[in-house]
Amino acid sequence: MNIPNAEYAIIGGSSTFAVDFPECCLSDQIEIINKNIFFSTPFGQSPLFTIFNLSKEPILTCKMHGWRRGVDRALASKQIFWVFKEAGIKNILVEGGVGSINTLFHPKDLIIPHDYIDFSSRRSVNLTEDYLLIMRDPFCSDLRNALKKSAQKFLPERNLFTEGVYSNTDGRHFESRAEIKMMSICGANVVGQSICPEVYLAREIGSCYAGIYMIVNYAEGVIKDWDYDEFKNIFTTEGVNIARVLIDALNILLYEKKHCKCQELRRITLLK
Ligand SMILES: [Zn+2]
Repeated sequence: MNIPNAEYAIIGGSSTFAVDFPECCLSDQIEIINKNIFFSTPFGQSPLFTIFNLSKEPILTCKMHGWRRGVDRALASKQIFWVFKEAGIKNILVEGGVGSINTLFHPKDLIIPHDYIDFSSRRSVNLTEDYLLIMRDPFCSDLRNALKKSAQKFLPERNLFTEGVYSNTDGRHFESRAEIKMMSICGANVVGQSICPEVYLAREIGSCYAGIYMIVNYAEGVIKDWDYDEFKNIFTTEGVNIARVLIDALNILLYEKKHCKCQELRRITLLK
């Protein structure tokens, strides 16, 4: 199947995993074009994608960061972003669940990070060697603003933190108490497993990138031992809420002129 041209994409995470996205939003602005299709990439067969129109604008989306059994997570990201590069994607919204390191954050609170620390050991997570990627201001200010407006509109009762540092680990296991303490000392507010390498790959293909994350548990050693049943409940019940935020944020972006400086943070490599 040929990769369609599109400038907008959504990468789903644990919040939208349990719902049929984007149909669950029940919006007459959404028109499904193709469902559950995959593409061939130099890094192997891509995860399944859905293509839909939102207000007649084509959108590419895939579930759970492309993670699937038998495929290395970093490889899954390379497959997704190769497809995005070929499609011409310029705006990527993502979501996921995170553990709270900062004691101000509690389950079901929302955070739109402004920075990250990569504690993963993944290497060779580029598509090419053509660019110097500057990770100053890694998350697009315009996309973060759109997510903020949409979250305030659809989930006004929730605590929304519009800044924060996301610490990224390899997974799939969660972290130890000692690791969380180290991350806290380093300035991290939440911990998750999906921002890296996506944030590098987005910059490499010249796309803006930002995400909204729901607190799904306390990180180990923070406040109290987290509860599996509460964790499971959030996983299965919050999908439609986050889906609506993502679709509304995309709708904002379709009609607003961008002012971000993301394009200036990708430069031609000097290592030739
Ligand atoms: Zn941007």
